Amino acid sequence: MARAVSTHWHTLSPHQATTLLESSPQGLSNSEAEHRQQVYGWNELQEGATRRPLEILWDQFKNIMLLMLIAVALVSLLLDLQSGGFPKDAIAIFAIVLLNGGLGYLQESKAEKALAALKNMTSPRVRVLRQGREQEVDAKCLVPGDIVLLEAGVQVPADGRLLNAANLQIREAALTGEAEAVIKQPEVTLAEESALGDRVNLVFQGTEVLQGRGTVLITQTGMQTELGRIATMIQSVEAEPTPLQQRMAQLGNVLVSGSLVLVALVVAIGLLRTGDLSLFDELLEVSLSMAVAVVPEGLPAVITVTLALGTQRMVRRHALIRKLPAVETLGSVTTICSDKTGTLTQNKMVVQRVQTLDTQYTITGTGYAPEGQILADGQPVAIESAPALEALLMASAFCNDATLSPTGNVWTILGDPTEGALLALAGKGGFHTNRLKQNCDRIAEIPFTSERKRMSVVIRPCEDGSCPVDEAVMFTKGSPELVLERCQLVQMPAGTEPLTPAKRDQILAHNDEMASRGLRVLGFAMKPLNHAVPTNDLEAEEQELIWLGLVGMLDAPRPEVRAAVKACRRAGIRPVMITGDHQLTAQAIATDLGIAQPGDTILTGRDLTHLSTAELEATVPHVSVYARVAPEHKLRIVQALQKQGEFVAMTGDGVNDAPALKQADIGIAMGITGTDVSKEASDMVLLDDNFTTIVAATEEGRVVYDNIRRFIKYILGSNIGEVLTIAAAPLIGLGGVPLSPLQILWMNLVTDGVPALALAMEPGEPNVMRRPPNNPRESIFARGLGAYMVRVGILLAILAIALMAWAYQHTHAAGYPGDPATWKTLVFTTLCLAQMGHALAARSDTRLTVQLNPASNPFIWAAVLLTTGLQILLIYVPPLRDFFGLYPLSALELAVCFGFSALLFVWLEGEKLFIQFAMKRQRS
Ligand code: ATP
Repeated sequence: MARAVSTHWHTLSPHQATTLLESSPQGLSNSEAEHRQQVYGWNELQEGATRRPLEILWDQFKNIMLLMLIAVALVSLLLDLQSGGFPKDAIAIFAIVLLNGGLGYLQESKAEKALAALKNMTSPRVRVLRQGREQEVDAKCLVPGDIVLLEAGVQVPADGRLLNAANLQIREAALTGEAEAVIKQPEVTLAEESALGDRVNLVFQGTEVLQGRGTVLITQTGMQTELGRIATMIQSVEAEPTPLQQRMAQLGNVLVSGSLVLVALVVAIGLLRTGDLSLFDELLEVSLSMAVAVVPEGLPAVITVTLALGTQRMVRRHALIRKLPAVETLGSVTTICSDKTGTLTQNKMVVQRVQTLDTQYTITGTGYAPEGQILADGQPVAIESAPALEALLMASAFCNDATLSPTGNVWTILGDPTEGALLALAGKGGFHTNRLKQNCDRIAEIPFTSERKRMSVVIRPCEDGSCPVDEAVMFTKGSPELVLERCQLVQMPAGTEPLTPAKRDQILAHNDEMASRGLRVLGFAMKPLNHAVPTNDLEAEEQELIWLGLVGMLDAPRPEVRAAVKACRRAGIRPVMITGDHQLTAQAIATDLGIAQPGDTILTGRDLTHLSTAELEATVPHVSVYARVAPEHKLRIVQALQKQGEFVAMTGDGVNDAPALKQADIGIAMGITGTDVSKEASDMVLLDDNFTTIVAATEEGRVVYDNIRRFIKYILGSNIGEVLTIAAAPLIGLGGVPLSPLQILWMNLVTDGVPALALAMEPGEPNVMRRPPNNPRESIFARGLGAYMVRVGILLAILAIALMAWAYQHTHAAGYPGDPATWKTLVFTTLCLAQMGHALAARSDTRLTVQLNPASNPFIWAAVLLTTGLQILLIYVPPLRDFFGLYPLSALELAVCFGFSALLFVWLEGEKLFIQFAMKRQRS
């Protein structure tokens, strides 16, 4: 039996295919089907890289910081069990570990659904002929050689060769992105090189039967199908960890290894200094506290909430985020590759010009209303005396699947706007489709696809009607170059004439001239079919056509895009246009919008196929427009840009765009015109299909990233301060550990966590779109962040140590020297309160707190008040105080805490004054 994988089934007749697969019109026997199932496996898409829920959960605990916390909790539990104490620290730490793991799990299990969407497209039960009897089986049990019955409404369960069909129409949008139904023709055999969309004798898994019935010989199942191939492509493009994930991993490594070194030092110095091994227990306690202190337990939650808030802000600006980390990575985008039609333009087409070989016509009227005039030299034309124009208008009406309908005064279209504009044009010339449909039959067609870039129909007059054609005629419209290639004659006023090379050049010159004005140009042709009318191999008839003329329609750029392109450039982001349209049209619109600049290169799909990968990589930095490209070129373009170090956002709508969307750093699907598969493969969906929304989303991404940096430096400064304070205590000879694990968790989660959340609400800095994109490869410590954290940590530790010395004196003087809870409470409270001032100062790197609008982030004030209040409750409410092992501070002691903690705020504001002074000097 033929390997079902490698055969070109569309080139074989039903009989040949059945023989090759050793099947018969009665189907396989049950035992043979079972045998083949063992050979070919289940007819289902494999999950590939997607992880099971347990694996996702397990992955959360591979995080080095959580592992260290688990180790700390275990040691702490052992110590408590040994001493007979209640293990409250261990329980608290375990709770935090579970909370963080759970949070990460929830976040990740939402992702990776692209394959699930593809999988859903397969139908669960199918009618199959086996042993000559019709049976219903699970779609996953199908094997090559099975005979399956299709009817309207079902999804095709596997790829197959049609054996027979009655008016079978299938929507293949899932594969080709084209919404139009394909009429299937089992009788034909096709050339080997026919494109997927043209294989009218095959059916494909995941597509939908709209009308009719058919019997199919299954040829490929599971991952061997066309849908399976797309799934493989998606899987082979591996999702890399996002910049934020990489930075968090780096942060974890630095913190954990740093704290381990510090712990070793403290233990070694402690033991060496005293030479007393009995101190080991105390040093172990110190080590545990340091390990808890170094991990920013509140950070994952703050990050998740920040990203979630970011998505909400983006939705308000019409960008729907599908993958949470994209919120932040958007801030790193350096290149935006955008489709033209509908994204940069309005997708509202109006025909402005018709050009036959001898005459130029101007069209008046606006919108889709079929009201207006066709003028030549400023005068209305008599259509009957212009045969090329008359036939072209007929072609516009016949070779068309859209419908126009008036709602009030406005005409709206159902279908492709390009075709809507052509209907309006035909209406202006007196050809109204409703009437034409009554009098003429469409007996055959090849629908439009982005790959073929043209459409043909065959029209025949009805017997009783008054159809404007009196014999069967084929009308073709599409990309002018492709239609012209297939013409041999040209329609002139006095009849048809041969299409000489000079005339061809003249037509191409007209085309270029119209395209260079930014018009979307379509070519029209016809062919009387006085011989037997073909219904099958219509593509073979698409030759020796009669050229009619060109139609130029304006698809005006969206007015807001110009400003968005400018904003992009100011922000260091390069906009690039990728379109199926003619290069001159693309260039005109790109120049108008500011996307193409002098010196930029324009590449066409044909150029792309000739360039090697290395050549393409060398060229992409200079290309701002890609024209006449097919969906598969997009993947190469993204990869080449990424190789050049670009961080790429790319738009797409068809299923064939899915691999490119997955590969792009930010894959963007169209909310209105996009297919489900493209949406599933994307990171973000544009609810309004508008380029401006992408720019708005990158701005929000930058704000989110700034805020993440803001609260990371805020939180980690405190962590470092805690670690140094704990390490210092035994070294300067104060007995005991200044901060217990429980107190540290309180600080890290509550007194640091709440203000950090408020910092995440900071509005964008005024210059957010006037500076270059965030470097996705930049370390978390870049641009002074690491130095800042260490500085703040040392300051906090100095404050705490000074306070310890004061507390030591003070408690002696006050006569209660024995109670370690006193100085510990002072240190704990001061560190917490110092962070309140730090939160206020961290709002800006350069502007003083008094220079910021206090109302621009009311949350920060609320957070500071709330947290200070909670800290005071902790000290003065007895059960809380006892639980946290605290001492009720006197008024003087509390005042000292406030005083010491204010010093950090004063220092940080002083730093900003210094920066302002330095910047002023630099400017002057
Ligand atoms: P973009 O990729 O930016 O959306 P586009 O809409 O021009 O651009 P396609 O829809 O793939 O890309 O169209 C490619 C070409 O096919 C068009 O430039 C036009 O010449 C031709 N074309 C478009 N629509 C039709 C149609 N309905 N019938 C026949 N030909 C068409």
